[in-house]
Amino acid sequence: MAEPTAGRRRVLLIGNPRARSGAEAGDLVPELEALGLEVSFATPDGIEALHRLIRETGPGVERIVIAGGDGSIAAALPALLDVAVPLAVIPLGTANDLARNLELPEARAAQLRLVADGPVRRIDLGSVNGRPFLNAASIGYGAAVAALHRGEAKRWLGVMNYLRVAYLAWRRIRPFSVEIICEGAQHRGHFVHLAVVNGRFHGGGLEPRPTGTIDDGVLDLYALREGPIFRLLQLLAALKLGAAQRSRLFRLQGRRLRLTTTRPRPVNVDGELGLTTPLDIEILPLALAVVAP
Ligand SMILES: [Mg+2]
Repeated sequence: MAEPTAGRRRVLLIGNPRARSGAEAGDLVPELEALGLEVSFATPDGIEALHRLIRETGPGVERIVIAGGDGSIAAALPALLDVAVPLAVIPLGTANDLARNLELPEARAAQLRLVADGPVRRIDLGSVNGRPFLNAASIGYGAAVAALHRGEAKRWLGVMNYLRVAYLAWRRIRPFSVEIICEGAQHRGHFVHLAVVNGRFHGGGLEPRPTGTIDDGVLDLYALREGPIFRLLQLLAALKLGAAQRSRLFRLQGRRLRLTTTRPRPVNVDGELGLTTPLDIEILPLALAVVAP
C-alpha cells in the first residue's frame, strides 16, 4: 500500500538534459521515492531555466538534489545562494571534484541514502569578479585545458589521459607575468599555470595541498614556474599523485587575492572559459549548505 503523500519530505531532483547523464538522472526518481521522499524531477534546459527552477521550486523543498558533475553544480550556484535549501549531490558527471571534496560514498545506494537522511554541513565557495565558484579559477595551463575540452566530451579518466591532455595543453600555452596582491602583500612571478583553489581536489583530482579543505576559510593559490615541458609534466604527475616537488611551485594562501597580468588572459572557472584577467578573488566562508557524511 502506498504511503500517504502528506508528511513526506519533498526534494527537487535536477538532471542536466545536455549531459550524457541526463537520462540516468530520471532513473533515480523511483529509487528516491523508495526511500520515502516525494520527488519533483526536472531537467531545465539552459542556465536561466535552471536558476528559475531553483528560485521558484527550491524554497518549497527540503533538499535540492543535483544529479550531475561539477559543471552542473557550478552553473546552479547563483540560484542556490539565493535559496537557503541544502544542496545534495549525486555525482553523475565526468568531473566530480566536489563529490571528492565532500567525501561522498562511491556506491549509488549509499549516495541515495545520504540524500534522504544525511547530515547538512556548510562549505566555502570562492568568488571571482563577483561570480561564485566551486572548485577553482585558473589561468595558463588551466585555461588551455578548458579550451581543449570545449566542444568535446570531457574525459578525466586516470593519470594517462590526464597526461595526454596535459601535454597537448602545455604545447599551447606561453608563460605569463602576473602580479598577485594577497593579504596586503605584493608578489610577482612568471608562470605557465596559476590556480586559485577552494577545496582539496580540482581539475580532475589535482592535489595542490593535501591538507587543504573545502571548509577551512582560505583559498589556496599555486602556480608553476616556466621550465622544460618534461619537467613540468613530471611535476604535474607528482602533484596528481600527491607528492609534489617544490622548486617550480609557488604557493600562497589567503582570503582575498587580486591577480593582474600584462595583457588580459582567459580564465577557467570551474571548467568553463568566459572571464579574463584582472581577477578579484575572495573566499565566501561557509556560504553553501550541503548534504555530506
Ligand atoms: Mg579551502
